[in-house]
Amino acid sequence: MAKCDLCELKEYTPWYASFTQPFRFTILDCDSCDTPMAVLGDHRAGPTAEERAFMVEALSLIARAKYGEGEFIIDGVMRQIPDHCHMHARPTRWRG
Ligand SMILES: [Zn+2]
Ligand SMILES: [Zn+2]
Repeated sequence: MAKCDLCELKEYTPWYASFTQPFRFTILDCDSCDTPMAVLGDHRAGPTAEERAFMVEALSLIARAKYGEGEFIIDGVMRQIPDHCHMHARPTRWRG
């Protein structure tokens, strides 16, 4: 049974990648922010340091292709669902 919206990811926004190794996580467009985000495959608030580093790296690859080198930040603040690890790549010039 799904515990939250991030456990039960629906494919109504573009998916960039879905990893099963070395651990499960998915990179897709966030439907509220319309920016790429990485979502851990487990319902946990805190990733291990290795998991976090891997997710940041993979999400940065996507964000670099989409926004350009140095044109985005990795935002690890979990505003809407604080108990399921996820992070957004946000363009630094998204308001301008
Ligand atoms: Zn979002
Ligand atoms: Zn969850």
